[in-house]
Amino acid sequence: MTRVHNFSAGPAALPLSVLEEIKNELPEYGDSGMSVMEMSHRSPAYQAIIEDAEATLRRVMGIPSNYRVLFLQGGATLQFAGIPMNLMRRGRCGHVVTGNFAKKAWQEAARYGDARVLASSEDTHFDRIPALDAVERACVDDDLDYVYICQNNTIFGTQFHTLPNCGDTPLVADVSSCFLSLPIDVERYGLIYAGAQKNAGAAGVTVVIVRDDLIGQSPANPYCPTYMDYRIQADKGSMYNTPNTFGIYVCGKIFRWIEETGGLVAMEQRNRAKANLLYNLLDNSKLFCGTAQKDSRSIANVTFRTPSKELDAEFIAGAAQRGIANIKGHRVAGGMRASIYNAVTLESVRALAAWMDEFESLHCMGQRSL
Ligand SMILES: *Cc1c(COP(=O)(O)O)cnc(C)c1O
Repeated sequence: MTRVHNFSAGPAALPLSVLEEIKNELPEYGDSGMSVMEMSHRSPAYQAIIEDAEATLRRVMGIPSNYRVLFLQGGATLQFAGIPMNLMRRGRCGHVVTGNFAKKAWQEAARYGDARVLASSEDTHFDRIPALDAVERACVDDDLDYVYICQNNTIFGTQFHTLPNCGDTPLVADVSSCFLSLPIDVERYGLIYAGAQKNAGAAGVTVVIVRDDLIGQSPANPYCPTYMDYRIQADKGSMYNTPNTFGIYVCGKIFRWIEETGGLVAMEQRNRAKANLLYNLLDNSKLFCGTAQKDSRSIANVTFRTPSKELDAEFIAGAAQRGIANIKGHRVAGGMRASIYNAVTLESVRALAAWMDEFESLHCMGQRSL
């Protein structure tokens, strides 16, 4: 077996110990006589799996009891519609547009009501988190149902390091690529959600954590599909229909791995150490430069480039030869991107840093001899 240093933005690296555990349990889960894949979602064995996954997540994140935890399908993308359909009761929300996914979420919300852009960093190609004073003013003046942010911008490598102060206006956050990578205060939010494939498991599960009073008795939009009705999903324990049984089982394993390896405080320390290694290198490099403004840098996705597309391509090809995979930037951003989620080891990041050093010295020597 040769496992590469995997810097994929998602679906992304998972801890080998968890993969081995899943492999061992694949033909028979416990003494159930069958695989998790073959189990009825209504069986006691499966009920225990989903309840344990939720309980572990609640412990790991410190989720207060007045928040509901849902395990849904359809990716983060389906929530772009699910959120306005459930929460836009007075027909108006505010969005902060800080990247591709943030923009898509705003465009989707605009199909359901008055979705206002309160701040954007599109003018500088999403290289920063914009000033948030207009957001805070709108929370006072505009009678918004909620304010929406994308807390970590996976494609552009930026992250909110402070949240807007929204007063009583609920804050909704797409945390897909920073979920479980650092402690967060759930009570600051009305709703947070994350696709599992970045930091919490395999693709096909989206975790939604929502304050109970916001979901009311029925969704804001009468045409909201029953499946997307947060009240129904909460009351049915995410089992209005067949959930992604295997995917939720994998999430439960990851939640437990996080708990057993030190919890979110330890995750943050490790993630910051990995990010600092790369950002220090970028700040001292004559060849590579980081693409996000310093005060907006992400600890989950590190974006950078060389002075030319040709050199970028050469760097990426050389990385592949050294077992460093998936560092090509997203097609809308170009350059390189190293996604350094929880399961990416410091050793993998050191391997990438060593290749960056080597590439820089090769290139700079070449220049000198010209
Ligand atoms: C990956 C990602 C998405 C899209 O997730 P899907 O599961 O493909 O719908 C949305 N938002 C953020 C921040 C992401 O990183």
